[in-house]
Amino acid sequence: MVLDGAGQPLDVGRLTRTIPDGLRRAVTSRDGGCAHPGCDRPPSWCEIHHVLPWEHGGHTALGNLVMLCKAHHHQIHTTDWVALLRDGIPEFVPPVWIDPEQRPRSRPRTWDLTHTLGGQPLVAQPV
Ligand SMILES: [Zn+2]
Repeated sequence: MVLDGAGQPLDVGRLTRTIPDGLRRAVTSRDGGCAHPGCDRPPSWCEIHHVLPWEHGGHTALGNLVMLCKAHHHQIHTTDWVALLRDGIPEFVPPVWIDPEQRPRSRPRTWDLTHTLGGQPLVAQPV
């Protein structure tokens, strides 16, 4: 288990699929709402997605979680869109029919990477 400076878990590994409150706050602070490009849904409308699915061995960790609204969460699970985290930043790879080169896209960032929670940087490390 990895804790932030305030003793809140940022990585509970395989202990639980459920997102602990402190980890949810860290994802919320990093993503600020749905992370899908072009979406402006606030955190209260969002769910937390395991980038590497829990059932495939994914960890419940800041480096494997991304905030998505219900519509984009459904889209990630039912279409060829792929969510990933690069250097701790959510990116989305579109299906071939949208972009034949499948260039990753990210939401324009309006927040500051130096934002902290409990004195610790919120920049996630890749899993
Ligand atoms: Zn969305």
